[in-house]
Amino acid sequence: MTVLICGAGIGGLCLGLSLHQLNIPFQIFESSRTIEPLGVGINLQPNAVRELAALGVKDDLKRIGIQTEEFGLFSKRGLEIWTEPRGLKAGYDEPQFSVHRGKLQKLLYDTLITRMKNNPVHLGMQVTRFKNLSSSVQLQCIDKKTGNTEAIDGNILVACDGINSIIRKQLFPEEGEPLWNGAILWRGVTTATPFRTGASMVMIGHDTQRFVSYPISKKNIDGQAKINWIAELKFNPENEWSKSDWKKKVDKSKFIDSFLDWSFDWINPLKLISETTSIYEYPMVDRNPLQNWTFERITLLGDAAHPTYPVGSNGASQAIIDARKLAFHLKVNKTNKAALMDYEKEMLPLTAKITLANRNSGPDALLQVVEDRCKGSFNNIHEVISQNELETHSEKYKSIAGLNIKKLNNSESILSSFI
Ligand SMILES: Cc1cc2nc3c(=O)[nH]c(=O)nc-3n(C[C@H](O)[C@H](O)[C@H](O)COP(=O)(O)OP(=O)(O)OC[C@H]3O[C@@H](n4cnc5c(N)ncnc54)[C@H](O)[C@@H]3O)c2cc1C
Repeated sequence: MTVLICGAGIGGLCLGLSLHQLNIPFQIFESSRTIEPLGVGINLQPNAVRELAALGVKDDLKRIGIQTEEFGLFSKRGLEIWTEPRGLKAGYDEPQFSVHRGKLQKLLYDTLITRMKNNPVHLGMQVTRFKNLSSSVQLQCIDKKTGNTEAIDGNILVACDGINSIIRKQLFPEEGEPLWNGAILWRGVTTATPFRTGASMVMIGHDTQRFVSYPISKKNIDGQAKINWIAELKFNPENEWSKSDWKKKVDKSKFIDSFLDWSFDWINPLKLISETTSIYEYPMVDRNPLQNWTFERITLLGDAAHPTYPVGSNGASQAIIDARKLAFHLKVNKTNKAALMDYEKEMLPLTAKITLANRNSGPDALLQVVEDRCKGSFNNIHEVISQNELETHSEKYKSIAGLNIKKLNNSESILSSFI
């Protein structure tokens, strides 16, 4: 009775940790030969933090990240449109964390292998395809060290292999590449003095030019922290762009000229970009929501199931929630197909709504409204947009993403009835 997990990213590792809590056997196959701290910053929403706390890693999160206190939208002139408290400051029982993605992945990996007698994570094993057998599922992998092909049998296969999932490709051969909306994201981390509350996440600009930034570490003795930033420009989506690859590095000369006049008295995007040594390029891509994730003994999880634009701080959080929900249903239904169907029934409609909301009415949508109405310049924001419009938009997105404060505070962590 083994669950085979393809991919040791955030989703795959959380699923492993959750199955370990429930004494359900599993094995994870990861194509990278080492787990290195790759990527830049990500956010963990209170619903996901509650699950990570239940996995016993909340103190570690405090060590590697910071608790986000504020979220804010600003026009391209650096003027405040909307700010709201986040995490504990907003009244959630759990904080929101801003953290380096690679450090989070390493934390989950280290925690898992420390807790288990036999290491369940097989690194350097690139999954190439699966086979549905009469009473099991078979995973085929290439061992990158030896070049040999290996076949591994299990009861259930969970694809946690990210936006370019090989399992999804086999299930949906006609689907093709992820869908690009024309925007390119350049991402980096540099050391600088944090702005506003010292733990604020800000989005500045509008649909065709944007800068997002937040600190992902505590301040050092000089009052500086690791500041994560994302600079974004929109191009014609008919243009050719390279495949989505989280590891692609580029030079800042590709985009910095567009940000030459972006320096405000409270944040200096131009300086942040200029002082960063490693810059990663990623196209703004997602995929259309699927009708089904589950086929016989196989299901999809995290970005393999529902890749979305990284605008709502939801990618990692949703992979964590998926993992906990799937573990719950595997426990209830004893690792069989019914568990996968119940998981799909619960999570597919929710995540489809988030993917679609992130396309045009994510938390950032108000930026373009303000740009359209006044080109980003105003004396009083309420002459441009009413308080009611601002509040309604913010609440709507929170409720789509499962972040309603009262509802969340009144519910237990997903596996609380078993552990
Ligand atoms: C290197 C990297 C850097 C990232 N950086 C950022 C970032 O800076 N900001 C952000 O918002 N999001 C980033 N992401 C995406 C983010 O981690 C996910 O959106 C979110 O955490 C959901 O996680 P996931 O587990 O579904 O997918 P991922 O975290 O993408 O994990 C997928 C895992 O599957 C493995 N894998 C892929 N194909 C195979 C295969 N054929 N066989 C075996 N293993 C395979 C990958 O190596 C990876 O470890 C990054 C992802 C990766 C892989």
